[in-house]
Amino acid sequence: MIMEKVKVLIIGSGPAGYTAAIYAARAGLSPVLFTGGQPGGQLTTTNDVENFPGYPDGINGPQMMMDLQKQAERFGTKVNFGLVTSVNFSSYPLQVTIDEKDVVEAESVIIATGASAKYLGIPSEEKYANKGVSACAVCDGYFYRGKEVAVVGAGDSAAEESTYLSKLCTKVHLIVRRDEMRASKIMQQRVLNTPNIEIHWNTETDEILGDDKGVNGVRLVNNKTGAKKVVPVQGFFLAIGHKPNTDIFKGQLEMDDAGYLKVVPGSTRTNVEGVFAVGDVSDKVYRQAITAAGSGCMGALDAEKFLAAKEMELAH
Ligand code: NDP
Repeated sequence: MIMEKVKVLIIGSGPAGYTAAIYAARAGLSPVLFTGGQPGGQLTTTNDVENFPGYPDGINGPQMMMDLQKQAERFGTKVNFGLVTSVNFSSYPLQVTIDEKDVVEAESVIIATGASAKYLGIPSEEKYANKGVSACAVCDGYFYRGKEVAVVGAGDSAAEESTYLSKLCTKVHLIVRRDEMRASKIMQQRVLNTPNIEIHWNTETDEILGDDKGVNGVRLVNNKTGAKKVVPVQGFFLAIGHKPNTDIFKGQLEMDDAGYLKVVPGSTRTNVEGVFAVGDVSDKVYRQAITAAGSGCMGALDAEKFLAAKEMELAH
């Protein structure tokens, strides 16, 4: 059943989605935004955002997202707490199904569904999900106060999460698969300067160990020597990158091998007219809040231009 007809439908509620909403709303396009399953997106799982211009003292991630929502609503964005479960971009107007039942017809769609945390894919990870295994230190770190934990990964996320956890936990074991970290120098330095973070170089996770109560250790393997060792931890945190949230667009939109949506370079236009991709869903290079916000702005401007051209076309 067609529930609603909208000019601009925005899918996703991270910095890209809300920035698109602010611009589209201020252009008088009355955007409707569906938040998805994680309202506020990835920044709600982070602590202090120190690199977003305009906040000399940093800003708390969830607070920033609440502010962005407020700003989008102030100009007339309708924010809905629904999940887009399928889309039909093969005809026009574009159709988007919410929560598997309600269909919204849209003249343009801005996709800002972002990316989600990756897992290692070992059985014990699933076995202990929510029983010691987590992909978000800021969300779950509190539960491990005064305990020993492990973090796997070597990028900025791993550096940030281990530093965060080091303030709550007695000890953090950082599991790095190579002999160097990918994280920025300043964040690596923070890790190296923190006495209760121990880095295990050239090391991979063999298995997460535990019992009915949850995780109680992790068996590590040195990938150079094959030597195994068990470290006693109660928490196991993944920080090994992300996967774009594009499953619902398979077969509808062009994407690269990793699933990131393809856009015409220098724009947010996908291969379907009227559909735009913004933020991390189409960016595997920069992946920052500020670049996501910037591309959200581009998406709204591209949608506005598209709608104006469509209107001209109909008038003639
Ligand atoms: P990245 O893709 O940058 O790093 C992923 C890390 O996980 C790599 O070090 C990789 O190892 C490791 N890894 C991947 N798969 C496995 C595996 N199966 N087993 C063990 N290790 C694995 O992801 P991040 O989430 O760290 O960062 C994403 C982006 O967000 C980056 O651009 C980053 O700069 C940014 N970011 C910025 C922050 C800030 O400025 N405050 C905070 C967090 C992220 P390897 O190096 O060997 O490939």
